[in-house]
Amino acid sequence: TAPTSSPAKRVLLASPRGYCAGVDRAVVTVEKALEQYGPPVYVRKQIVHNKHVVATLESRGAIFVEETDEVPEGEIVVFSAHGVSPAVHEQAARRQLQVIDATCPLVTKVHKEARRFAAEDYDILLIGHRGHEEVEGTHGEAPEAIQLINDASDVDAVTVRDPEKVIWLSQTTLSVDETLGTVDLLRKRFPLMTSPPSDDICYATQNRQEVVKQIAADCDLVIVVGSTNSSNSVRLVEVALGAGADTAYLVDDAGEIDEAWLDGVHTVGVTSGASVPDDLVEGVLAHLQERGFPPAEEFTAATETLTFSLPKELRRPAASTR
Ligand code: SF4
Repeated sequence: TAPTSSPAKRVLLASPRGYCAGVDRAVVTVEKALEQYGPPVYVRKQIVHNKHVVATLESRGAIFVEETDEVPEGEIVVFSAHGVSPAVHEQAARRQLQVIDATCPLVTKVHKEARRFAAEDYDILLIGHRGHEEVEGTHGEAPEAIQLINDASDVDAVTVRDPEKVIWLSQTTLSVDETLGTVDLLRKRFPLMTSPPSDDICYATQNRQEVVKQIAADCDLVIVVGSTNSSNSVRLVEVALGAGADTAYLVDDAGEIDEAWLDGVHTVGVTSGASVPDDLVEGVLAHLQERGFPPAEEFTAATETLTFSLPKELRRPAASTR
């Protein structure tokens, strides 16, 4: 009998992947601030959750700090894409810092919802990851009205003042399906619970998950490029596994690919989180080609055209404040 030939190798490249409008704006904000004001420019927290992006901006003169009290008085500070609580704005004002706010407008939208529903005396159930910067910022808008729902045990434990005045909101970068599951559990406890006026999980998170769902079942391996502290990147690994990929791993770059992962693998899916520059993905594709995989076939689930204008401080002529 003729020997059976092994199936051809394939690389399925997800689209959309990588930079979203909010990340692009935040990175350009730091670059423009460096151009306009000269280094150093201080940035509170990682501007976006990607270690390569942070290292590149550092090499150009950005100084990353954890809190505003590490910024010398009167200096420029950029707030990251994940948003900050009002308390952080107050601290910055006390230190007379010149704030450039790179919070993604889609995070700001959730902050506004939190303020509005708190003002209307709702109990707000915020679905998100405890300790994530975005969740801390949103929670800080109305700490007295917002309770965090991190997992199913929180669903069981939560109590509200009036079951007719409850709304759920969410972090922008969660798993769509998992969040809907949590909402179902909450609705069993609070049948009259209100939903957010529009999706809190942002378009970029949804699109990146959708295309991974479409390719995952055909993949022996899915490689997600992204950093471990990037919520939407970590979710892409979970979504790939949930949608039928045999294995899925998160890597910061091609150098983290373990040769053993490729053993016996025919079809590799490749995608990247919303904070990942595409040259890191190119590096992964080149790495695969060096190991006998063909050029990637791109699978497109949605076309993205959204862009955001820069923060207002960078839209006017350079101030000569220093
Ligand atoms: Fe904005 Fe979504 Fe990008 Fe976060 S992932 S910066 S919410 S567009």
